[in-house]
Amino acid sequence: MNLILLGPPGSGKGTQSEFIVKKYGYYQLSTGDILRQAITKKTTTGMVVKDILASGKLVNNELILQIMEEKLSETYSKPGRIFDGFPRTIMQAEQLEELLHNQNMKLDLIIELSVDENTLLERITKRANESSETREDDTIEILKKRLEVYNIETKPIIDYYTDKYHVQKIDGMMSVHKVSERIEELINLNS
Ligand code: AMP
Repeated sequence: MNLILLGPPGSGKGTQSEFIVKKYGYYQLSTGDILRQAITKKTTTGMVVKDILASGKLVNNELILQIMEEKLSETYSKPGRIFDGFPRTIMQAEQLEELLHNQNMKLDLIIELSVDENTLLERITKRANESSETREDDTIEILKKRLEVYNIETKPIIDYYTDKYHVQKIDGMMSVHKVSERIEELINLNS
């Protein structure tokens, strides 16, 4: 099972990925988490991307694809993969299809979590106030930038995929539990 969770920052992709990992043993491929780990470990990649993450802009496609290619190869023994925060541009979407195709795999399920912008702003403010592990990009100002980047760079992926696959839209304003239930239904239907 290859599943993409699409949605703006704060739409619940990370929370729902955790649920899927626990329930199905799929491997979560979160480019945001991978980049944050690189920053914490002060690797060369970490040094390169630190300021980009703090600004809310996107890391360049080449670097992301290199990371994804490497990480993806670690997941082949898993029953499934959740792509969380990737792809973020049409180019990444095309490359993901190619990477999967080269391994005789395909995209099985694409889920869009939709949440209105005011709710996203509220959620991120809460996350910034409550989290013990502060994320530099969890401020209202940077969130607005990330939303703008999402609308310009990432949203078009939904149209790109809609032309080729059936994109399943889930109302991300429902409770976490209800969203998980809906995701579970879709995974069961598509596996
Ligand atoms: P996230 O945790 O998915 O919201 O990602 C945090 C930040 O990491 C983003 O604002 C980008 O700067 C960077 N990032 C994560 N995934 C990607 C990606 N697929 N392409 C480019 N930049 C990314």
